[in-house]
Amino acid sequence: MPVDDVSTALVAWYDVHARRLPWRSPPGTAPPPPYRVWLSEIMLQQTTTAAVAPYFARFVARWPTVAALAAADDDEVMREWAGLGYYARARNLLAAARTVAARGGFPDTEAELHALPGVGRYTAAAIAAIAFGRRAVVVDGNVERVVARLFAVATPLPAARAALYDLAAGLTPDRRAGDHAQAMMDLGAGVCTPRAPDCGRCPLTARCAAFAAGDPARYPVKRPKPARPVRRGTAFWIEHDGDVLLVRRPASGLLGGMAGLPTGDWSGDDTPPLAGDWQMLAVPVRHVFTHFELRLAVAVLRPAVRPDLPGTWHAVADIAAAGLPTLFARAADLVLQTRAEDAHSPRFALENVR
Ligand code: SF4
Repeated sequence: MPVDDVSTALVAWYDVHARRLPWRSPPGTAPPPPYRVWLSEIMLQQTTTAAVAPYFARFVARWPTVAALAAADDDEVMREWAGLGYYARARNLLAAARTVAARGGFPDTEAELHALPGVGRYTAAAIAAIAFGRRAVVVDGNVERVVARLFAVATPLPAARAALYDLAAGLTPDRRAGDHAQAMMDLGAGVCTPRAPDCGRCPLTARCAAFAAGDPARYPVKRPKPARPVRRGTAFWIEHDGDVLLVRRPASGLLGGMAGLPTGDWSGDDTPPLAGDWQMLAVPVRHVFTHFELRLAVAVLRPAVRPDLPGTWHAVADIAAAGLPTLFARAADLVLQTRAEDAHSPRFALENVR
């Protein structure tokens, strides 16, 4: 299949159907500043455009340049990132911003971009193509799917990954490299979708082997996934005089550097940080990480005297502003919800009257 043939059809389609996203420039116009491209690409790793949009808006309003972000306070950035997940990204974001600010601006080659913290092969290629117009092979899950279908690649993922990259490289043009990359992304996100590709709206039907074979959703072929293991743990809600104890998680590891409730290590160590008459909430919080599912029980203690424990005390009434990641925000919701239900139960009312 000639490169120009596919890319020309794709970019012509993109000129009309490009998604309008806050971090993008319209097709065929000057590229957006590298800061916006880089920030959006980091946020979009494992995250949908709908989830990213409000975070992106808040970040660029608060830190409009990479120099401003580089000078930001770590805790402030982690707090703004709270809820977006995959928190190693926020730590790498700060490290990369400081590297870029120290060298006076973003590098413009794929290799130098790849050397920045948190910038993998895909992200480096995307920034090089979109912000700097360089020919770069930009392959994410969406692009893999489109290419697997165009060529009806029968080898299952992940074994097919290198071959799909080479096929994508064969389709990548020298001209309008950024628009080609974004056109591929848009086609994969909106037309060549995982379960029900909308081939009637696709500019590449005449060139698509899977469409010709009559079963495009069969591609990319995947090996069945093993079941996700379940891990269990306990979060400890210690409340005194309207405040709850929060801790800062270790910098490395899951939810590293984020604020949270005290917990064990989620592998069986559930020793409470304090002896007392702990009340277990009836339902645990379920949270799915990439490699396992966590069922986090929530234990509540309201000691009469404020205990001397490491961490900071945060007003329960203002818990939404604590910058808790989703897992702990859900645990907090559960505690507050249980308390509200208790307040309306006859048992609670009776105890209060006594
Ligand atoms: Fe995907 Fe259908 Fe287009 Fe082929 S024709 S690339 S399967 S949307």
